[in-house]
Parts: sequence; structure tokens; C-alpha cells
Amino acid sequence: MMYILVILRRIIIFFILTLLTQIGGVVYLLNIFLYKYYSKASSCFKQFTFKLLGFVTLYFLISIFIVPHAAKQFGRVSLPIFAGDHIKPLNIITCLLNRHYVNATLKASLNDVAKQINMQYPNTVINYLDANFPFMDGFPLFPHLSHNDGKKLDISFHYLDAGTKQSTNDCPSFFGYGICEEPTGREENTSGICAGSGYWQYSFIRSITPQGNKHNFIFDGKKTKFTVNAFCENAKISKVFIEPHLKKRLKLMDNKVRFHGCQAVRHDDHIHVEVN
Ligand SMILES: [Zn+2]
Repeated sequence: MMYILVILRRIIIFFILTLLTQIGGVVYLLNIFLYKYYSKASSCFKQFTFKLLGFVTLYFLISIFIVPHAAKQFGRVSLPIFAGDHIKPLNIITCLLNRHYVNATLKASLNDVAKQINMQYPNTVINYLDANFPFMDGFPLFPHLSHNDGKKLDISFHYLDAGTKQSTNDCPSFFGYGICEEPTGREENTSGICAGSGYWQYSFIRSITPQGNKHNFIFDGKKTKFTVNAFCENAKISKVFIEPHLKKRLKLMDNKVRFHGCQAVRHDDHIHVEVN
């Protein structure tokens, strides 16, 4: 019975790590082969600590030295981890979980757009959110089911600091999602319509995200509009998703700007871009 429980626990951990990081499950299995060395530790606590440290060390060694090279075989490249060329992850955890891979076409488009934005708005950083995993088409980046081919990327809106009214490269949500530029009473309330149609997931992230930092930021509609239009003007970009009320408010006319549908999640906290 004990043996079955151990196997069951390992299967659950394998699936959770694979779901979150793609390679985490495989690293977990590799680490199990080293358990015989950890079992020499004198106490259960020490054994657990060694197992955890073993996993973390293996995970980062593989993520840093093997994954970026292997990903190239799948046509994927890593986005910048630090703020080079005006592009960076909003939260470094995106990179630690290997969720920052795109194909070369999308990376080139992102670089072009970042340069274009900085000609108009110097020192602007594009904060990227979830991109794709490094390997295999069709392997979804949970919870974004469409981010499964290296062709999709989420980026943050631009904001002003509410205190100084100056442009800032920070964002209200620490992970980029869940703090929304919501519709006013006069605007189309897509999230309300989707929720009313039974799509409970549409605003789920909004409902679990702390909103305490929202009042420290003002949505920079002008710069966000410039960014969306810069993506639309890029020949390789095929679609841009943003919530319908923001499309209307910002007067985004390009037909690449689309509504993603109620089966997705709301896009008044970030922009989704993709290439063909
Ligand atoms: Zn997306």
C-alpha cells in the first residue's frame, strides 16, 4: 500500500512540474535516480532537503546549459532574461519556469517593435509575460492553451506612476495578469457578457489577484495604443488580442486587432500578439 502511495505521489508531482515548466517532470525523474545518495542522510528532514536541493540544482543546470541549445532544434529561442534591447520579463519567474521561448520570427518582430517604441518614447521597456515552452508544437503553456507553438506572446500594457504622473516601466500586477483596465459604465462589458454566458474562467485570474497596487498606476492609453499599432504594422504579426472596450476606446482600427472569444481569458490586463 505504501509503495502504491509513493508511486501515486510521484506521478502527481511529475504532472504538476511538467504542466508548469515542461522539463520539471523529467528533471524530477532524473533526480529520483540520485535518491540512493541522499538516503545516507541521518534524518528525514535532511533527506528531504538533499532531494529538494538536488532537484533545484539539476533543474537550473539543465535550464541554463542544455535547454537553450536544445530548443533551437525545435525552432525556439529564448527572449532576453535581463533588460537588454528594451525587452525584459515582467517577472523573472517566467524565465525560471522556462516560459520565455518564442520562434525566431516573433523575437525579430518584438525587437523591431521595441526599437520603434523607443524612437517615440525613449527608455521604454516592453515587459513580456508568458510566451511558450522550449519544446514541441502542441504542448500548451498552462493556462494559455494557444501558447503551444512558439508563435504567441503576452506583453504588459504601459502605465504612468499615479504619484508623479510620469511614465514608468513597472506594472500594477507583479505577474502581469489580473489587474484590469476595466470598462466604464458606458463601454461594452465583455467580461460581464462572457461571465453571464457561463464562461467562469474568463475573469478567474482577475478574481484571485490582489488589487491593492492598482491605485498606484494609471493606464497609459496613448503609449499602449502606439505599441499595439506598432505590432499591427509589423508584417510578420498576424493577430493582436485586446479587450473590445479598449479596442474602441483607443480607436484601434487595424483588422489584426481581434476579439479572442469568451472561451479565452480577458485581455484588459495585457496584450496578446502572434505571428503566422
Ligand atoms: Zn496570450
